Amino acid sequence: MSTAVRKDWDTYFMDIAYMVSTRSRCMRRHVGSVLVQGKKLLGTAYNGAPMGLPDCYEAGCMIAEEVELVNVDGKEQVLKKQRCIRTIHAEQNLLLFTDRIDREGSVVYVTDEPCWTCANMLANSGIKEVVFHRAYPKDTQKVTRLMEQMGITFRQLQNYEPPQDTIAPVSN
Ligand SMILES: [Zn+2]
Ligand SMILES: [Zn+2]
Repeated sequence: MSTAVRKDWDTYFMDIAYMVSTRSRCMRRHVGSVLVQGKKLLGTAYNGAPMGLPDCYEAGCMIAEEVELVNVDGKEQVLKKQRCIRTIHAEQNLLLFTDRIDREGSVVYVTDEPCWTCANMLANSGIKEVVFHRAYPKDTQKVTRLMEQMGITFRQLQNYEPPQDTIAPVSN
């Protein structure tokens, strides 16, 4: 008799997303995402440079600084965000490698909370739910609002532990 616990679906698909993230080729953040229709896995993707081009481990990250004006308690503040623009984000690759018709009404599991650009694309992609694990606070507010407006279920997995050998350090 096996003593292994049978994993629930959320854990099952998030574990796969973390497994996929180990393929990532950017050292700043290893992100994995999967597309699920019903209980069926329809696609997997991670962040990386376009196929055939040098990745961040070979060529270094390509860092860009973004400045965003945000309104905090009626005051305009400047929010600075650094990001690597060499890579295509996992969610964007997922959209590039799946068909619109498969995405209608489907669920995306992603290791990290989507950034604004990815969220914007996901919102227009036909999916009905996004499940993430690690938070990305810089975009949370507007991404949450966007998902609300689109009627897309947006939730963070609580009490979840990724498989030990799939976790890479994250830098913001
Ligand atoms: Zn990079
Ligand atoms: Zn993104």
